[in-house]
Amino acid sequence: MIRIGPAGYPDGHRSPADSVRKVRAAGLSALEIQFVRNVRYDPSKAEHARREAAESDVLLSVHAPYYVNLNSSSQETRDKSEEWVLRAMRGAEAFGAWIVVVHAATYGEDARGCTARVTGSLKRVRKIAEREALKAVIGLETMGKKAAWGTVPEILDAMGEVPGILPVVDFAHLQARRPPLDERALQALLGSLDVPRLHCHLSGIEYTAAGEKKHLRLGQGLDHLMVLDALADSGLEATVICESTSPLEDAQIMERYLDQGI
Ligand SMILES: [Zn+2]
Repeated sequence: MIRIGPAGYPDGHRSPADSVRKVRAAGLSALEIQFVRNVRYDPSKAEHARREAAESDVLLSVHAPYYVNLNSSSQETRDKSEEWVLRAMRGAEAFGAWIVVVHAATYGEDARGCTARVTGSLKRVRKIAEREALKAVIGLETMGKKAAWGTVPEILDAMGEVPGILPVVDFAHLQARRPPLDERALQALLGSLDVPRLHCHLSGIEYTAAGEKKHLRLGQGLDHLMVLDALADSGLEATVICESTSPLEDAQIMERYLDQGI
């Protein structure tokens, strides 16, 4: 089953639980909670949203803060980054979200040691998460800028080192980093992933030689119908979070395409 939903609460929502209701009313079945600038929530409202999501079968995910850099040259920044991931995982626990999406690192001056630093940090984070009984898996996102750690092979390496980690495939980022993302490349990628549920981000993209520039409406810079077809053909259980500039409307466009082919 492919679940589709928006990144962020829909416009005009009155609470997190109301957001879940609006997503369901729009015919969608997933929602990504954006902790991208701060992990802030009211625990009782989170609990309401958790119950609403379970009742209406909306699968929740969480996006961790953008400030995370597990390969910073500063020990203080690395420590803070691990804490941001943990705080996002605690938030995920409160909302019953199953995965926490993380932009793990930039290469900085130590590109070669980057994967080792990332996995070292993730092992520490997982240890604390286990102690606190936090159930969310950590989703490492494929990144669009060439200076950012997070190619598919790098993420698969990290998955081999640390349990409780899954890839998050951002198709716009893949397209920005290594165009063109054609049918064959998609098929090869999706066929190589052995995961219980593939969490994905999809939007349009504007990119330059340095990689990602900005996200756009669906259909701009990336053939989203080709991506949806490839996902459907792969037979994978998947969630597609729409990160375009109109996330709810564009998520509905995707849902309609998968459901009715229009
Ligand atoms: Zn992201």
